[in-house]
Amino acid sequence: MIEEIPLPCARLGTRRVLAVHRFGAPGARPRAYLQAALHADETPGMLVAHHLIRLLREAAVTGEVVVVPVANPIGLAQVVEGTHVGRYALDGGGNFNRQFPDLTDAAAERLSGALGDDAAENVRLVRAALRAAHADLTPATEVAALRHALLGLALDADLVLDLHCDQEAVPHLYTGEALWPALSDVAGELGCEAVLLERDSGGTPFDEACSGPWWRLAGRFGSETPVPFGCAAATVELRGKADVSDALAEADARALLRILVRRGVVAGETAPPPPACEATPLAGLERLTAPHPGVIAFHRAVGERVAPGDLVADIVDPSAADPAQARTPLRAGTAGILMARSNRRFAGMGELVASIAGREPLQRTGRGLLFD
Ligand SMILES: [Zn+2]
Repeated sequence: MIEEIPLPCARLGTRRVLAVHRFGAPGARPRAYLQAALHADETPGMLVAHHLIRLLREAAVTGEVVVVPVANPIGLAQVVEGTHVGRYALDGGGNFNRQFPDLTDAAAERLSGALGDDAAENVRLVRAALRAAHADLTPATEVAALRHALLGLALDADLVLDLHCDQEAVPHLYTGEALWPALSDVAGELGCEAVLLERDSGGTPFDEACSGPWWRLAGRFGSETPVPFGCAAATVELRGKADVSDALAEADARALLRILVRRGVVAGETAPPPPACEATPLAGLERLTAPHPGVIAFHRAVGERVAPGDLVADIVDPSAADPAQARTPLRAGTAGILMARSNRRFAGMGELVASIAGREPLQRTGRGLLFD
C-alpha cells in the first residue's frame, strides 16, 4: 500500500509529497522503518529501497515494514546551475540530517509517575508519550515539516535504518553505543568495515532522534521503572556516491531482508549473520582536512588500514614557485581503517579530505562529533 504524505506549501503553487510504502498489518510488531536519501544526493539507498520493495511484495510480512524510498523531495529538487545540492537546505534550513526534534523532555513530563515495574507496559507508555510529544509540535518551515513527518513515521518502530552514503567509502554504520552489539547483525549483513558509536553526537541526526529518547529516558527514570530500548536506529552509509548498481543494490536489499527475517518482521528462515567488524568510538574518527587549498593527490584507497605517520594524500598547490615546496603531506595521526575520502580532487582550506576510524578517542573541541 502506498500512502502519500503532503508537505506544506512553502511558497505558492507547488506541493511536495512523501511516498510511503507499507507492508504488513498496520500496528503489527515488530515494526521496521527504512528510508533513503535524506541527504538527497546520496543515491545508493534509493536503488536499494527499489529492490527491497520488490522483495517485500513477494515476502510474508508478519510484522510491519514502512519504506520511504525518497525521503527528501525538497533536497531532490535543489539543482543549481546543473549541480545537485542535496545535503543542505538552500532556504537556510541547514543540513537535512540535523536538528531533528529531541522528544525526551516532553515525553518525560508526560511519563512522570506513570511508569511501573513492567518493562513491556513501560515500552507501550513511552511510545504513547513520544507520539503525544511529537503531535504537539508545529513545524514552522517546509524543511521542519519534512523532519517532523519523517520522525513521525519512524518514531515507534522497533528498528530504524536510515540509508545514506559517503563521498567515497567502504560500507559503515553510525549508531548509539547503547545499541551495540544489538545491531551487529546489521553491520555483519551489510559488510560494514567500520561502526562508529556515540551516545550524543551533537546536532540530533535522524537516527538519534528516533533511538536517543529511549536511552535518555531509561537513565532518567532509573532501574525501578525499567525502560528497555524500544527503538534501535542506525545511519547506514552504503559506500560512496557513485557506488550505484543493480548488483550492489540487490545484494544490499537481500541483506536487509535477512535482517528483517531474523528479527521476526518477515517470515522465513535465515542463517546466522556474518560476524560484524569491530566497533570504534565516533570520538576516535580522525578527520584529515586540507591545511591550504590545493589539488588532492591520494596515496591510499578506502578500506586500507593505516598507521600513524602513513601518507594518505598530498595537497598540491600548483601555483607554488618551487614545485618541491608545493606539496603538503596529509598523514594518518591514528591507527585504523581509511573509512572514507572526498570524491573531489580539489580542496579548499579546511575542507575534509579523508576520515580514519580509529580505536582511540581523539581530542576534539568545538562543534559536535559529526562533520557537518
Ligand atoms: Zn548522508
